Amino acid sequence: MELIQLGKSTWYIPGRVNIGYYEENSQGYLIDTGLDDENGRKILKLLGEARKNTPLRAIVNTHSNADHIGGNAFIQKRTGCEVWATRVEGLLTEITALEPTLLWSAHPFKQIRGKFIEAKPSKVAAFIEPDETRPDGCWIKDTRLTAVPLPGHYLDMIGVRTPDDVFFLADALFDPTILEKYRFSVVLDIASAHRTLDKIEKSEARWFVPCHAPAAQDVKELARQNREGLVWVTKAMENALVEAGRPLTREEILSRVGTASGMEMDAAHLLLNLCSVSAHLTYLSELGRVEPFVRDCLLLWRLKGD
Ligand SMILES: [Zn+2]
Repeated sequence: MELIQLGKSTWYIPGRVNIGYYEENSQGYLIDTGLDDENGRKILKLLGEARKNTPLRAIVNTHSNADHIGGNAFIQKRTGCEVWATRVEGLLTEITALEPTLLWSAHPFKQIRGKFIEAKPSKVAAFIEPDETRPDGCWIKDTRLTAVPLPGHYLDMIGVRTPDDVFFLADALFDPTILEKYRFSVVLDIASAHRTLDKIEKSEARWFVPCHAPAAQDVKELARQNREGLVWVTKAMENALVEAGRPLTREEILSRVGTASGMEMDAAHLLLNLCSVSAHLTYLSELGRVEPFVRDCLLLWRLKGD
């Protein structure tokens, strides 16, 4: 692990999940904490060596997925720092069993309760309330950090901008290798994800730091590739319905698109992909291209006009 400086007061720690670090008034702030205790331990060790006398005041979580909040509990226990997040993401950070519950829509079975889905819970001290009337963002508590709403990927994800012009983009953009490997990536609201990509394409910053792609000074091409990834899934799902020549359940749609792309998945990964399939079905139905109906106790989707 290493701490790479991007601005006068801003650093990041590259890794499977890029972690942000920022200082203001001799206090430190982390942006996300990685997957687990081990990540938390390594982050604290690194900060202890590189930024010795700076107490950690708070963790700002971009959203509540386990790979972003998993280090919270360890770091909070060691330092007593606060955790700040938007209201709904904060709730899931405090009650992490809700994550697999959301996936399964009932009390979850053990195979979907691993640390990649269900992190250790941590205590949220303050809610960040993004201001809808200010799409550029709102101040985060009494700092000069701003929270920028980046809806689409999860329930109420934010990006974080620092006063020295670094823009942490959370999971609004994925590296092309990830898009290619996973195809569906996790998206809960397709229309919002498109608007978020528009917003990022128009944004200027000295540095952009997505959580799952390298830091870069220009992310326009990456945003374009992410848009292409979204459009690919929408089209592949519509094609699956055309090729089947009959209505399909969302599981069948996933199976057809996934198998054709040579995807392999375990139960947790399959349910995450199903979330994306569901999101694309909502999107397609809002565009008037598909519609749901129930037959033989199955929720089926057909092309509109069929
Ligand atoms: Zn992530």
